[in-house]
Amino acid sequence: MEISEQAQELHAKAIIYDGHNDSFILHWARNEPMEIVGEWPQYHVDLPRLRAGGTTAFNCMVGCGDLHQAIELWDPIFQHVQNYPDDFLLALEPEDIERAKTEDKIGLVPQVECCAFMNRSLKILRVLYELGLRVAILTHGEPDPDGLRSPDISGRFCRLADRERARRDYLGLTEFGKAAVKEMNRLGIVVDLAHTKDAAYYEAIELSETPVVFSHGNCFALSPHWRNLTDDQLQALRDNGGVIGISCPRSFIAEDEKDRTFERLIDHIEYAFDLIGDDHVGYGSDFDGTTDPIPPDPTYQPQITQKLLDRGFSEETILKFWGGNFLRVMRAVREAAG
Ligand SMILES: [Zn+2]
Repeated sequence: MEISEQAQELHAKAIIYDGHNDSFILHWARNEPMEIVGEWPQYHVDLPRLRAGGTTAFNCMVGCGDLHQAIELWDPIFQHVQNYPDDFLLALEPEDIERAKTEDKIGLVPQVECCAFMNRSLKILRVLYELGLRVAILTHGEPDPDGLRSPDISGRFCRLADRERARRDYLGLTEFGKAAVKEMNRLGIVVDLAHTKDAAYYEAIELSETPVVFSHGNCFALSPHWRNLTDDQLQALRDNGGVIGISCPRSFIAEDEKDRTFERLIDHIEYAFDLIGDDHVGYGSDFDGTTDPIPPDPTYQPQITQKLLDRGFSEETILKFWGGNFLRVMRAVREAAG
């Protein structure tokens, strides 16, 4: 695709903050060096392709299974920042992401993709904050710890009535979940509701005193997947001041294989803009956390900028989409922290 001069300039100006990246855990799972410098063609992400796509920062997934795994996943963040200081920095504050942009580096923001491994301990949450935890997904769809589990929904499509039933009948937050949201508000950790089932989603939005994010997922109206947000959920996110990160997994883009196209990914962005406004939509690729994403890697990011311009969105809107909105939430969360 031809990228116009306007799109190139705008893309170069944008802070591009990706709300979710699983590269380190994929290296970990494959027992390969936990390194993203050099070329890693068997992954979606490596340094040359991040550079080519203009990525400024990304949420780096550093915890999903158990505490031991989380600590191991944190190590490559420190290693990259120490060993490649011209390429990476640890981004704990919004200013760090801005600095990554001006210094032409990539900011790594530690994000966990589950809180169950904290074993209901706020002490562990606080220690992880000291290690740099700034974004926390509450759940990865694991069974409810009290045994009153709601069905595993992660990989499936459903109908709106199923979502309404889930909101009504499924369990919401656990006691630890509620306490964790409060403690995240107090510490200054962004509450991330990706993977959260419907009942808990609404409860967490109600409970959180700061804007939340939904770091990776799309619009249910365009792809009726359990991991996508219904219109009602999107509106609740807007009312909270939050942001959805539009995401690249094929099933999040469309139910029918033939509709899983790049154009359809842009449709999700446009749908969300139309429904909840351009202050509440961002980007969360899920690279290296999904199979055959659309687009396949960060080098296609300038094409997203081109497509959004082609559809008539303003430069201001596109800058908010790429990073402005996630940064606004990060700022609000920090300012509200005790
Ligand atoms: Zn995920």
